[in-house]
Amino acid sequence: METQTQHALHGHYSTANTVEDFKHNLAAIHQRMNAACQRAGRDPNSVRLLPVSKTVPEERIRLAYAAGCRQLGENKVQEAYRKWELMADLKDLHWSVIGHLQSNKAKLVARFATEFHALDSLHVAETLDRHLQAEGRGLDVLVQVNTSQEESKYGLAPEAAHDFVQKLPAFKSLKVRGLMTLAIFSAEAERVRKCFVLLRNLREQLRQDAPAGIEMNALSMGMSGDFEIAIEEGATIVRVGQAIFGARALPDTYYWPKGGE
Ligand SMILES: *Cc1c(COP(=O)(O)O)cnc(C)c1O
Repeated sequence: METQTQHALHGHYSTANTVEDFKHNLAAIHQRMNAACQRAGRDPNSVRLLPVSKTVPEERIRLAYAAGCRQLGENKVQEAYRKWELMADLKDLHWSVIGHLQSNKAKLVARFATEFHALDSLHVAETLDRHLQAEGRGLDVLVQVNTSQEESKYGLAPEAAHDFVQKLPAFKSLKVRGLMTLAIFSAEAERVRKCFVLLRNLREQLRQDAPAGIEMNALSMGMSGDFEIAIEEGATIVRVGQAIFGARALPDTYYWPKGGE
């Protein structure tokens, strides 16, 4: 049988409150990731789990750290920045910004993030690059593509990605690694899978004439409800929040699409 989405579990994940809970949840996710890799004939080392800690308070993030998390994804810049400051003592904990960025917050991202998954505007690229130069830092970035054709979602239209990527070498501090997407939120696995296939095909296409210095390897796709399908279709990074940390209190419409900032 085809792999199904787990969206029915949405909002029902139990909250991880101890280091043991986190170890258990992380092990369970890794096991499912490995099984998906096996189905697809992929090397499990080719997929990275990025735990997503948005809305999770500091004390529980520290438990996740104790359970082994060293890189966390956050979709709101100010929340991420505040957490970075609070947990500056955890020197080897790194932060990925995975949500839409307004250029007026690029300065914060340039200061603390090691990865940015949602680049979709040249203005943001330019602003980020300028602040990164000032900080003497570099940043791994992924270009976000809207693969579901939902108007409400952020990201470039697939047909706009080629021209966009051609312009990125101008921004020397941005280390372009690949593409990111959010699939349609649907219980119909085939519709979800289509989004992931589209992103993978787009990467193959963009690879053909990627400018020097621009990498087109990473595919950041898949979340709690659909990461196994994403892995079957080539994901190299899966962004998983609720299945590790527990259900969020606020509905997803608060975060995306076009959740307030
Ligand atoms: C919240 C979020 C995720 C993780 O979603 P879960 O349902 O918690 O796994 C992944 N990607 C982005 C961009 C997010 O904002």
